[in-house]
Amino acid sequence: MPRQGLMAASGVVLARTRMGESGLWLTLFLKGEGLLRASAPGAESGHVRFGGGTEPFVWGTFQLHKGRAGGICLSGVDIADDMLPLRKRPRALYMAVRWARLIKRFLPSDYPADTLLANLYWNMRLLSAPSVPPAAAEWRFLWRWLEDWGLAPDLNRCARCGRVPDVPDRVMWTEDGLLCADCGQNTQGSRPSFTGKELGLLLRTAARDGESVARAFEKDESLKKNEALFALAARCAEGLLYEK
Ligand SMILES: [Zn+2]
Repeated sequence: MPRQGLMAASGVVLARTRMGESGLWLTLFLKGEGLLRASAPGAESGHVRFGGGTEPFVWGTFQLHKGRAGGICLSGVDIADDMLPLRKRPRALYMAVRWARLIKRFLPSDYPADTLLANLYWNMRLLSAPSVPPAAAEWRFLWRWLEDWGLAPDLNRCARCGRVPDVPDRVMWTEDGLLCADCGQNTQGSRPSFTGKELGLLLRTAARDGESVARAFEKDESLKKNEALFALAARCAEGLLYEK
């Protein structure tokens, strides 16, 4: 953003906290800018100054003013997508809050991350789709994030011997990548494990575009039974972000 003056950028409100009696502090995630904190004076006063544009997970174009001292102030919002279906679905909203926390934790301030921003948008759209278990959207979001940052392990073969797991074979998820039953024999402690078939479903869900994923879940009701699988895989993927 310029050192001083006006700018506009598209993105999302990730979080907000109160500022004084009627103002807000917003954490924005913006295209070309990354994470940025902006004040929104009067956002909570009687007249709705920003027309709902300061609600968490609202996407739009944010007009900002940077003062001489470096403080950034919101001057207007053009809402592009209010994500109302997501915000009305408690489980989806819970996931979105978790994603926002992870981004705030792992993305440095003022570091543009447009691929992550697009990944966030499309998976928030997926969170809004009633046919898709929220955990599946979470897995997809986290896996794509790992891929974008070069942190994703190879899920197609054993990290030690290179064996490709068959559909019924179980492989262990470890911090060094997947291990087949033979290579993982002496691994200490219990590790999450997946069958070759489950890995196939996880990879397909992550690789397909959002609309195809939503359609696949609509067509095949039995896919919804895999919520626990997606949740476990999402925890594994999240663990890799903490290890980086
Ligand atoms: Zn092996």
